[in-house]
Amino acid sequence: GYHKVVKENRALYNMVQDLKGNIRVYCRIRPSFNGGSKGVIDFVGEDGSLVLLDPSKPGKDGRRVFNFNRVFGPTSTQDEIFKDTKPLIRSVMDGYNVCIFAYGQTGSGKTHTMSGPSGGSTTDMGINYLALNDLFQISSKRKDIISYELHVQMVEIYNEQVRDLLAEDSSTTKYPFIQAHKLEIRSCTSDNGLSLPNATMRSVKSTADVLNLIKVGEVNRFVSSTAMNNQSSRSHSVLTVHVHGKDASGDNLRSCLHLVDLAGSERVDKSEVTGDRLKEAQCINKSLSCLGDVITALAQRNAHIPYRNSKLTLLLQDSLGGHAKTLMFAHVSPEEDSFGETISTLKFAQRASTVELGAARSNKESSEVVQLKHQIESLKKALANKE
Ligand code: ADP
Ligand code: MG
Repeated sequence: GYHKVVKENRALYNMVQDLKGNIRVYCRIRPSFNGGSKGVIDFVGEDGSLVLLDPSKPGKDGRRVFNFNRVFGPTSTQDEIFKDTKPLIRSVMDGYNVCIFAYGQTGSGKTHTMSGPSGGSTTDMGINYLALNDLFQISSKRKDIISYELHVQMVEIYNEQVRDLLAEDSSTTKYPFIQAHKLEIRSCTSDNGLSLPNATMRSVKSTADVLNLIKVGEVNRFVSSTAMNNQSSRSHSVLTVHVHGKDASGDNLRSCLHLVDLAGSERVDKSEVTGDRLKEAQCINKSLSCLGDVITALAQRNAHIPYRNSKLTLLLQDSLGGHAKTLMFAHVSPEEDSFGETISTLKFAQRASTVELGAARSNKESSEVVQLKHQIESLKKALANKE
């Protein structure tokens, strides 16, 4: 009975799934640096299953099985990744807050997925560029019904300080320049709905604008990381797209898309680091474990969600939770010597994927959504009757 009903209502069923506020988890495996070696990867299933082999336990005892919404093997392309991410990204144009973040140890492919190949190549572009490109296309398609404005902010969080990656040096008008003062994060319920009211906000009207801004942000990130004598792998970078839509009746729609390239998740051996390095390691651990705590609290439907425990979770507050749509890319390296980190990444990701929340809520509850909710209710009743 169930399958028949589902089949009959395929479109509606898909929309029901789409409305769910779950945290989706996709796993991506980087190609091996050791030629065609499969490394620790035993099996990648189309259903989102992943089997690894523990190199220290040959035979059946070494099998480790995980399940995600999708698993992308080493041969997957940027286009394949984007194809499965597009519907989620597009929903930002319907008023949903969306957050996509890349998690994983340094060298596992986070920046490759979000930005593209290292070295600023313009082929194989990552989600950041493809997403904005797609939003412009939707905006132009809908221009007779809704007029959209897109604005972009880009910041990094390093040692629990937020830095503006799009700030210009007003005295020289030359990039790169990093604004020295710290940015304050406001609660997302502030008047204008902005969590970073003082970060540079740039209007973008074309993909060329976006490419220029991303370049500026990346140069600034590189310069700041060199100045601090550390690598960008120790900071989180957040690209935020603010969407404002207005229709003929004057109805407003506001939403935002956060695209986050997280700091490397590798555990640092505390005995080997001191001073600044130790502080850095503690800050990274703190914000990533806070992210884990928020996700767990959401999964358990706790009344209190500890967003305020780190700058990262505070900044992402409006797009991590019941009313938003969240996608996490868990990145892993296939090499045997990364096995420990790979397992810890997959465990973190598995914990996130159990999150099941109420329906995501568009900031603008259109009549369509209301109608859909009624349909969902009657579909549920139909299902109950047939079972
Ligand atoms: P991270 O940002 O997690 O530290 P990177 O994205 O910088 O990792 O990836 C490390 C290296 O591996 C880079 O040279 C990158 O170009 C390469 N790489 C990562 N993922 C892929 C992939 N899917 N296909 C090809 N090369 C990749
Ligand atoms: Mg990186």
